[in-house]
Amino acid sequence: MVAIYPGTFDPITKGHINIIKRSLNVFNELIVAVAKNSQKEPLFSAEERLMMATESLKEEGLKEVKIELFDGLLVDFVKRHNSKIVIRGLRAVSDFEFELQMAFMNRELDNSIEMMFLMPSIKYSFLSSSIVKNVFLNDGCIKNMVSKIVAESMREKLKIIKGERK
Ligand code: ADP
Repeated sequence: MVAIYPGTFDPITKGHINIIKRSLNVFNELIVAVAKNSQKEPLFSAEERLMMATESLKEEGLKEVKIELFDGLLVDFVKRHNSKIVIRGLRAVSDFEFELQMAFMNRELDNSIEMMFLMPSIKYSFLSSSIVKNVFLNDGCIKNMVSKIVAESMREKLKIIKGERK
């Protein structure tokens, strides 16, 4: 059975990768679905987020995982790929309310799709893309939180941002 792991991945972190590895213990096929448009106003473009996810998974040796951009309703993407399973990560109680709301909305749209929630290793349970961006933009070290390609892309992005401010 193929499972779908959707998100903004702005950028992909080791927390996301941990969830991907755990999913592969259960499902033999996984598609990471990178949301083209996100209400979160991403720092990186959809193409940059796709590239960082692709390279990060290569770096981890996870060649079997497919990665695609997606637009529109998640349930439509899931159906198009003949899947019935959506994976989401749960770090803390704070994630729960939003995830529950989304899960019920998705069920309303398609009752045959199940959402599955996985918890990351405890060392990643504090990690989020926004915390990584915050630490980085304030000159903190993010080495243990993201892959090499993400760290590089963040350095490039920072140069552009600083250039724009001059
Ligand atoms: P979204 O905008 O869809 O929430 P994110 O990229 O922020 O996209 O997250 C995608 C999914 O991965 C969400 O279910 C989120 O809770 C989960 N996630 C993000 N970071 C972590 C982490 N460190 N550990 C476990 N799950 C995580």
